Amino acid sequence: MGLAGTMTPRDPGPALNEDNPFEGMMQRFDRAAELLSLDAGLYRVLRNPEKQIITSIPVHMDNGEVEVFRGYRVLYNTSRGPAKGGIRFDMGVTLDEVTALAAWMTWKCAVVDIPFGGAKGGVVCEPYRLSMGELERLTRRYTTSILEVLGPESDVPAPDVNTNEQIMAWIMDTYSMHKRHTVTAVVTGKPIAMGGSRGRREATGRGIMLVVKEALRELRIPLNGSKVVVQGFGNVGSVAAQLLAEEGMTVVAISDKSGGIYNPNGIYVAEAIEWIRKNRFLEGCPAGDPCSNEAVLELEADVLVPAALENVITRKNAPNIRAKVIAEGANGPVTALADSILEDKGIFVIPDILANAGGVTVSYFEWVQNRGGYYWSEDVVNERLREVMIRSFGDVLRYARLHNVNLRTAAYMLAIDRVAAVHRLRGIYA
Ligand code: NAD
Repeated sequence: MGLAGTMTPRDPGPALNEDNPFEGMMQRFDRAAELLSLDAGLYRVLRNPEKQIITSIPVHMDNGEVEVFRGYRVLYNTSRGPAKGGIRFDMGVTLDEVTALAAWMTWKCAVVDIPFGGAKGGVVCEPYRLSMGELERLTRRYTTSILEVLGPESDVPAPDVNTNEQIMAWIMDTYSMHKRHTVTAVVTGKPIAMGGSRGRREATGRGIMLVVKEALRELRIPLNGSKVVVQGFGNVGSVAAQLLAEEGMTVVAISDKSGGIYNPNGIYVAEAIEWIRKNRFLEGCPAGDPCSNEAVLELEADVLVPAALENVITRKNAPNIRAKVIAEGANGPVTALADSILEDKGIFVIPDILANAGGVTVSYFEWVQNRGGYYWSEDVVNERLREVMIRSFGDVLRYARLHNVNLRTAAYMLAIDRVAAVHRLRGIYA
């Protein structure tokens, strides 16, 4: 059965809420599903999350009071394997956002063809206002409240916004205490001392470097001396900037929450990283001249890497973007309404579900190493990551050519095709 009449129109029009990540993601999903002529039943299955947990998390605060936090865990699709996806601690966490991110994880794992489904979790809180003790009690109680879905075979969390290795260690310990034995593979992004993978911290930035190189080769833009701008100088952005500079590119601008710096002759990235280590923010960094966050995005460059937040390139500023290539380091930095503007301008966008998939790929390697009980050297991790990213870039490019669509639509089509194929083989259990 075709989908005619059941799909949202191709042109999202002004009615689309540009700020809503779920709507933005589903807009791309719908377009890809329509092009694939996905049958209506499967369309309904893939458009809905498998399971959404909403939980209230009571925590003893240091002042003696009991506070209750709201937590979520969404398993979007587990047809290809255990659910995989990060946990974020942030005041902006909503069920809609967590669901969109869980769906994104489903498509991302399918694009790089790793045997995971997609999930995401979050707790509405201000982690910077919590003491270490409060943060630990919150993490352990949240873990307990989603215990029924967690497990190496069922749902494997990882760090996301405002969660880190320490929080993963508490999740692993809490789960292991309940199981009465140590279960390292229940979570990834752990400290190396307790089963984390070498190369995991750098994996997302490394994956970006690898796909940028592939894109430049495809577009016949020489790598050496081509200009790159990186928005966001955290884990993803700083590693991407450093590795792209090591490949011979000139990093002309970088930015973070405090603003940007610009240097047409090239920023010495190691100096900026050292500055951040000492001063936390880029503001005042002498590696370049100050530049506003908005201006950084609109600079003339060969490659722009938005690696900070979602929704930073919208229909308002998309007409001003001058980069030839955008490699989406963040999840959802370009809104659905900006997509067509960038396409009309001929900008080559490497979509998030491909560009930043290096992180989940090495998370998969971590899970494999935990289950095998045998740990790889950093060189082995990096080489296997390289193989996955280059193969995946090639797969998406082939789909784009075959269906005459841009890379984003091609990546969604490839992902949906892979997830749908498994659903067809498995059938619907009734
Ligand atoms: P991070 O917290 O380490 O860094 C975020 C950076 O963005 C910081 O430098 C921050 O100052 C900057 N920033 C915040 N607001 C900004 C603004 N308005 N303008 C410019 N910069 C701003 O986070 P991260 O781990 O690097 O993740 C960045 C993005 O990449 C997020 O969207 C995340 O979901 C995505 N991502 C991360 C990974 C990973 O492995 N860490 C994997 C896939 C996707």
